[in-house]
Amino acid sequence: MSRKVALVGIGKIARDQHIPSIAADDAWELAATVSRNASVEGVEHFSTIDELLAKRPDIEVISLSIPPQPRFDYARKALEAGRHVMLEKPPGQSLAECYTLERLAKQKGVTLFATWHSRYADGVPAAKSWLATRTLKRFQITWKEDVRRWHPGQEWIWEPGGLGVFDPGINALSIMTEILPYSVHLTDAVLEYPDNRDTPIAADLSFANPDAAPMNAVFDWRQEGPQTWDIDIETNDGAMKLSAGGAQVSIDGQMVVEGLDHEYANLYSRMTGLLETGQSDVDLAPMIHVCDACALGKRKTVAPFQF
Ligand code: NAP
Repeated sequence: MSRKVALVGIGKIARDQHIPSIAADDAWELAATVSRNASVEGVEHFSTIDELLAKRPDIEVISLSIPPQPRFDYARKALEAGRHVMLEKPPGQSLAECYTLERLAKQKGVTLFATWHSRYADGVPAAKSWLATRTLKRFQITWKEDVRRWHPGQEWIWEPGGLGVFDPGINALSIMTEILPYSVHLTDAVLEYPDNRDTPIAADLSFANPDAAPMNAVFDWRQEGPQTWDIDIETNDGAMKLSAGGAQVSIDGQMVVEGLDHEYANLYSRMTGLLETGQSDVDLAPMIHVCDACALGKRKTVAPFQF
């Protein structure tokens, strides 16, 4: 029997990933949507979450694919109504919001899944196990993309809580915190803010780690042409490159994983597993690094940005 899920926010990621992934998985049924503006053919539609929660007590899972700023209130209402909740990344616009939701889910005895889709890229498990037995010599994240291409007209990413370039950058940090065998902490950051915006367009982060290896992350939203989502790692025993956002792995120049795009299918499978075992999965490590970058980072003002 399939599980009923309601999808809230019918925007870019809902259409690109959630709807096709749910449709392709026999374990799930898209039973309703909540949207202020859109609907999905053949699926019951509500314009508010209150209406959905009141009228469809049979839907046990609510998947929130709205931006981080409005997400807390939606998640709180769903958890208070005893529903299991999936959060898009980042799990909130602040850490305190996420801790509150985590406590509420525990209190209500329901599952909360703070998803990090990049952790479910095909190359990530292989990268993690390769790294587990090696000593780090260098760790370099390069995440450079064209904001106009990937976030056309999305104003929320430039508003407080929208994270700016950390919206994609946090994906790299979610992989970093998954594959490293230990925790690291941010030491320095430089954040570049367009003169007319409240969130950064570029960031350069440095981290301290137990191997004392140089560890750096560069995020930039101004890259036109080929796009770069790479992590280059040198160790005492070879070099690994994770590319295409974690889908591909090469070791010493030899491709060992050439994955496909399964991230959202894997997220819904993971949610099935969490529901079966009655667990939650709320790892805030990537968000902690972003908050530390905002706390410790030097601010540079750069040219204004217009779409
Ligand atoms: P989006 O298309 O700009 O927004 C998604 C939907 O959220 C909108 O269509 C709108 O739905 C709803 N929404 C927007 N502002 C709202 C508000 N103030 N209150 C209530 N609902 C609001 O954004 P997106 O690209 O899908 O991103 C949504 C989330 O997914 C973000 O956290 C993002 O980081 C994450 N994500 C995005 C991508 C990507 O490639 N875009 C990839 C992975 C993860 P209605 O008009 O239906 O109400």
